[in-house]
Amino acid sequence: MKTGAEYVNSLKDLKPRIFLGGRQVDLLENPTTMTVVRANAKVYDLAHEPEFADVMTADSPYIGRKVNRNLHIARNTGDLERRADMAILTAQKLGTCNYRCVGADVLNALASVTWELERDTGTPYHQRFVKYLTYLQENDLAVSGAVTDAKGDRSKRPPQQEEPDVHVRVVDRTSEGIVVRGAKVSQSGAIAAHETVVIPGMAMRPGEEDFAVAFAFPNGAPGVTYVCQYSPFTAEREVMPEKYLGNPLYGVRETSMIVFDNVFVPWERVFLCGEVRHTGTLISRFAKIHRMNCGGACKVGFADLVIGAAQLAAEYTGVDKVPHIVDKITEMICLSETCHACAIAAAVKGREEPPGSGVYLPDDVFGNVAKLNVAHGFWEIMKWAGDIAGGLVVTMPSEKELENPESGPLVRKFFGTAVVAEKRLRLAKFLQNWTAGLHGPGTWHGAGSPQAQRMALYRLTDLEAKKRLARELAGLE
Ligand SMILES: Cc1cc2nc3c(=O)[nH]c(=O)nc-3n(C[C@H](O)[C@H](O)[C@H](O)COP(=O)(O)OP(=O)(O)OC[C@H]3O[C@@H](n4cnc5c(N)ncnc54)[C@H](O)[C@@H]3O)c2cc1C
Repeated sequence: MKTGAEYVNSLKDLKPRIFLGGRQVDLLENPTTMTVVRANAKVYDLAHEPEFADVMTADSPYIGRKVNRNLHIARNTGDLERRADMAILTAQKLGTCNYRCVGADVLNALASVTWELERDTGTPYHQRFVKYLTYLQENDLAVSGAVTDAKGDRSKRPPQQEEPDVHVRVVDRTSEGIVVRGAKVSQSGAIAAHETVVIPGMAMRPGEEDFAVAFAFPNGAPGVTYVCQYSPFTAEREVMPEKYLGNPLYGVRETSMIVFDNVFVPWERVFLCGEVRHTGTLISRFAKIHRMNCGGACKVGFADLVIGAAQLAAEYTGVDKVPHIVDKITEMICLSETCHACAIAAAVKGREEPPGSGVYLPDDVFGNVAKLNVAHGFWEIMKWAGDIAGGLVVTMPSEKELENPESGPLVRKFFGTAVVAEKRLRLAKFLQNWTAGLHGPGTWHGAGSPQAQRMALYRLTDLEAKKRLARELAGLE
């Protein structure tokens, strides 16, 4: 397995075409793109720490040795639990995305669906997938997962869109492979991944075969362009020394739009092409894995950071023993651990899917509940953190002020409490990154907007069975 330094070194061979803030930038030189590189490097390094070996690595039956868990296909419910543990651990250590997370979940969904596709159609999709996975594992590559299409008018099906490229689609098929066009948006960390695996963002119907496509491409493939997000945090990182930022090393969750301009993909990297019937299964299997990890695990790791920071803020200002503060901290813990419990339940109740495939997927209901709960719970947790830490979280001067001979002594004098002003400002800046940052909408929409989980829950629940129970006890039979 690669170390962080080896991963960074391997990026020197990649030539991604990246735009950020209206300029073309170099992945290894731009301060914002470097936060993604650093976060990935940390995830590589965590796999080498003996303390985390059980969580961060797994034994691969494909290559017969240990692999980074981000490239592992779950073989039992224990694997599912460790996968959720990895999401918590990496969130706690980074305060931003494990940028290999979506890729890991796409690979697991494809392992399950390509097995079924090969069984049903005879096309060697699973053989291709296993060969590709073996290549990833042998080289310990960072993989991002591309699911969300640009989508255009949400009320129209893909073929009805005025701009046909708003859903990724096949525009040509040859004996060597396929040619694809379109764009995937909000792609976490794709700029710094060695590979990206693309799947359809929705279930396709007969007549929509060109949009039913799953494939992998290497970073820097001809015709691929990345257009990065740009936020006030990007601007701040451009002008401020790193140490004064809310998450100095790893920044906020960085995404980009990936544009495919007639990109050629050889058949050995195509894992579904035209089989509309299997697209619904693929997206729903991906969703159930990703919602367990994104909702019940990763955000629990984030919540640990926010709760820890809120408790520190209370101690810094001497209100940590006040009953309503204790109450609010307790409420934050309760919200976070409820989501955590849902992730554990989703893993423990997971099963082999489809039977005979050897691939284990989490329970659908608990995975969806985990994500739905965290969408609401995380806003609540941030609300209480803002309450406890006070208005300083948004009204604070920069810690850089302390370097100024005129304003520095004033800031030091008036913001010092049980701790020096420097510590108080640094903690407030850390909390600003969460409570006044990108994480609210990020948590809401990541792994699908909550309405998608509501629809899944309603569809998955056997209301007839519940009605029968009620009728029986109420004497209505
Ligand atoms: C921080 C972050 C990281 C992400 N990382 C990744 C990633 O790595 N890979 C990836 O593939 N995606 C990623 N995403 C994308 C994420 O999956 C999407 O944001 C999510 O699925 C919602 O899609 P959207 O943003 O296009 O919003 P929309 O789909 O436009 O949703 C906006 C609103 O419209 C509603 N809506 C949309 N369509 C319909 C409809 N047909 N009928 C009724 N209501 C509708 C939704 O319920 C919602 O209320 C990321 C998102 C975020 C915020």
